[in-house]
Amino acid sequence: MSPEFNLIHTYFNRKTHHTDLSIGDDAALISVANQQQLAVSSDMLVAGTHFFADAPPYTIGWKSLAVNVSDMAAMGAKPKWITLAIALPHQDATWLEAFANGLFDCAKQFNIDLIGGDTTRGPLTINITILGEVSNGAAVTRSGAQINDDIWVSGELGSAALALAHLLDKISLSESAFNHARNHLQLPQPKLALGLALQDIATSCIDISDGLLADLGHILSASKLGAELDYAKMPIMPEMITEHLKPLVQQCVLSGGDDYELCFTAPKKNQETIIALSQTLNLPITLIGNTTADSELNVLYQGKPLSMHTKGFDHFA
Ligand code: ADP
Ligand code: MG
Repeated sequence: MSPEFNLIHTYFNRKTHHTDLSIGDDAALISVANQQQLAVSSDMLVAGTHFFADAPPYTIGWKSLAVNVSDMAAMGAKPKWITLAIALPHQDATWLEAFANGLFDCAKQFNIDLIGGDTTRGPLTINITILGEVSNGAAVTRSGAQINDDIWVSGELGSAALALAHLLDKISLSESAFNHARNHLQLPQPKLALGLALQDIATSCIDISDGLLADLGHILSASKLGAELDYAKMPIMPEMITEHLKPLVQQCVLSGGDDYELCFTAPKKNQETIIALSQTLNLPITLIGNTTADSELNVLYQGKPLSMHTKGFDHFA
């Protein structure tokens, strides 16, 4: 066996559940159910840009897949298959085993098959392509928001960015706050059950990877609308509530990346359904504002514009 084949066989070839032909041939074969569309998305993670190269490999494996599942959640699609293209600087068995465990723990949680990929030597880079199914026409896109829809967000905002700020010595969190925030940064939990449930409830949806303002901004430009948000309503980790007006905290909450929460719009008549859904899923879902007819995105605090106005993360800014 060639070393490359051996590596694939040892770490990445596991039992699959919804394939006709999996790893080992020139291509995998899958069947898509009747009346379903394929939802397809890729997310690439580069060491030094998306994670620290020395981060625990288990967390790198988990996060590589979690961020892709989050894109499926945002579309209302059910993820089923992934391919994994990975560049590795060297073959390190301990690293690979932990990475694969993180990846497959996430795959197991969401019932996803790894069906192929590519392996090469190079600076540590992980690219996953994910494929999922969604009933014809049922996907929740960015462009469907209507004037005066409610704007909702799941979970809490800014925690991943706060952990990063702590690691970069920009802020000092208590040990318990840091542990909580670090989990959000390293082991994000994609909100798949929520995304699937939103098919009949939301008019538009996006997952927050580059910060609330940037990602909500994508919904607003696609839907040709503006929005007014109430900063006092933002769901933030309990340890930071008393410090929520500090500029750095505001920046993490409004523009911090890596939250992987869902932000969605829905008609006001769906409020009770959404509150009930929040209880069923045991997941906070918070009403943070509403869409407007103009094209501005305004954040208010106690009725006045919030002085700090930050934008989301842009790789090429
Ligand atoms: P080819 O040269 O035909 O592209 P490869 O030797 O690259 O084939 O891959 C052999 C098999 O292993 C293929 O089924 C491919 O999809 C799979 N594979 C390669 N790398 C990975 C990986 N990192 N994870 C999962 N499957 C992989
Ligand atoms: Mg190949």
